[in-house]
Amino acid sequence: MSETEVLEQKTKQTTLTELESFPIDYDKLVGRGGAFLVTSVDEGYVFSREEFTEEHKMFDQTAREYGENRIMPLCEKLNVLNKDLSLEIFREIGELGFLGVDVPEEYGGLALDKTTACIIVDALSSGRNASIMVTASAHTGIAMLPIVWYGNPEQKQKYLPKLASGEWMGSYALTESGAGSDALSGTTTAMLNEEGTHYLLNGTKIFVTNGGWCDVAVTFASVNGKYTAFILDKDCEGWVIGEEEKKMGIKGSSTVTFFLEDCKVPVKNLLGNVGEGGPIAFNVLYVGRYKLGVTTAAGAKFVLDGALEYANEREQFNKTIKNFGMIQRKFANMVTRAWEGDSINYMITGSIDHTLNTVDKSAENYFEIVQKTIEDHGIEASISKVVGSEALAYTVDEGVQIYGGNGFIEEYPMACAYRDERINRIFEGTNEINRLIIGGTLLKKAILEEIPLRDAIASRMENWIPQLNLSENELLLSEAKAIEFCRSFMFHCLHESILKYGQDLKNEQWVIEPLANMVIALSIMDTGFKRYRQLAEGEHKNHVREVLSLSVADQYEVCLQAGRDIVNYLLSGEKLTSSLELITKWEGDTGYRPDRIRCQKAIVTTLYTQKKYYLN
Ligand SMILES: Cc1cc2nc3c(=O)[nH]c(=O)nc-3n(C[C@H](O)[C@H](O)[C@H](O)COP(=O)(O)OP(=O)(O)OC[C@H]3O[C@@H](n4cnc5c(N)ncnc54)[C@H](O)[C@@H]3O)c2cc1C
Repeated sequence: MSETEVLEQKTKQTTLTELESFPIDYDKLVGRGGAFLVTSVDEGYVFSREEFTEEHKMFDQTAREYGENRIMPLCEKLNVLNKDLSLEIFREIGELGFLGVDVPEEYGGLALDKTTACIIVDALSSGRNASIMVTASAHTGIAMLPIVWYGNPEQKQKYLPKLASGEWMGSYALTESGAGSDALSGTTTAMLNEEGTHYLLNGTKIFVTNGGWCDVAVTFASVNGKYTAFILDKDCEGWVIGEEEKKMGIKGSSTVTFFLEDCKVPVKNLLGNVGEGGPIAFNVLYVGRYKLGVTTAAGAKFVLDGALEYANEREQFNKTIKNFGMIQRKFANMVTRAWEGDSINYMITGSIDHTLNTVDKSAENYFEIVQKTIEDHGIEASISKVVGSEALAYTVDEGVQIYGGNGFIEEYPMACAYRDERINRIFEGTNEINRLIIGGTLLKKAILEEIPLRDAIASRMENWIPQLNLSENELLLSEAKAIEFCRSFMFHCLHESILKYGQDLKNEQWVIEPLANMVIALSIMDTGFKRYRQLAEGEHKNHVREVLSLSVADQYEVCLQAGRDIVNYLLSGEKLTSSLELITKWEGDTGYRPDRIRCQKAIVTTLYTQKKYYLN
């Protein structure tokens, strides 16, 4: 039975109102994807940078030093297409071991945890060069992981040592002119030749990052209608590489078209089995997404620091512009967006590592478990991508504004950052597609009971704000209640949406988008609160409290608006009236009265004392 058929059957069998509630075992949810959906703010655990181990810190320091001392001085040169310099840096990153973090030791890699992999790209971003980060990330993520996860021993032996060291560069060619977001609809074909020695690939792949510089490419084609993955070698006849695209941003990275013209690929270069191309293509994208969340959140911090330096110096009306309230508000929001992205990113890697740390790396099915665990965190991966890319978009846009006219001039750094940022909301699945994934996965998790969402919904029907195991002295008690109100509100909307549409909800984009926005807002608030709660009392916790207060105030508004849109659209008559009454009653019971301006002022005061982003 297919997954769609299972979903259909289950939706017909039960409606959520028929379910009994019973206590949820939160301990069992640690390390599970989507745990944040059902784990209230006083329960559960999130990993954050405050819990980095000494080894994590060592990688952070080494990569940060390399980013600041080696990449940053070359920034301008790397902002334009410069193959030799890009390859030099790429190889140096390889020599430091940073390209092989996900690769098994027997193939020359470091086989480290997912948190370390993210710490490295996070810290390398301190070089403030988006182009080289895109080059390295495409290589380590979408290009190399398919071979790590699905390659046979011969393929791993042939490719991984050279890819991990940076001797070879990899690329991943999935997109076609007619198959972008609908990635599996490509028309490239692969036919076995008469001798049975080679597949002949015919088709065109567009927008291939690293394509002009790579030695190896993972690509996809249909074998008798079955979508299949292949490894292309530099010497494959018929692999024709097109001109470099002239891009709006990340101009220092290579992006080309591949023309596959009877491209002769040896049978031994089939990756996985015929027909496995879909899962191979998609599973690596999860990793690409949360890594993009990391590089963008890191980028937001550096853009903020740059804008702050400028605002400290630029004078108008006999004052430095940092003294103007409107500029200060921008900085407070920038700090908060960057911190939110950071919180989400390490929550995810910590959760994945929690599960993978218990698995024997030498087990035959180790990489199958890795894929399943990462796939289980698909909702978090999409959230990370959306939160990080939108945090950076906001920050760069305000960065340009703070620079005024100079923000528009190429001599200053904001113009380039503005152009470089834009791609992040497009590749690794557009943010629309990622919102569809978030909504669709929520539905799937509810219907297939992957996590006890239906129990959670049932348990909240009568009581939207459960008794929380928090001290009455907890300074953010009303924020905690507001978060739980948002969780229940999201459950209410999910419940009503499923009642109306069943599994067809996944196609109702007018509802899926605001539902996804509620989930994203909830994940930010929930993760932030749990991160804050785990901190030891002291100055850092006080600083985090200021930022969390603004984060909750902002995300609460997102939730309220999205939830109201859904309810007003779905319901009518008495049902709508009683739903709106319910919302108003429980909203009132939170006792939550956000004071956004006070929050913003507190954050700016701290930022100006610290003189740069200070929550690392
Ligand atoms: C610089 C750059 C580097 C890239 N690198 C690579 C790479 O290395 N390898 C690779 O394979 N690809 C790569 N891509 C391709 C990239 O992943 C795609 O451009 C992206 O997935 C979007 O596809 P598309 O451009 O065809 O847009 P479309 O799919 O045509 O989308 C157009 C618009 O419609 C929206 N849309 C589409 N479908 C839906 C839907 N179902 N519901 C709601 N809205 C929808 C989209 O969100 C978007 O706003 C790269 C692209 C660029 C520009």
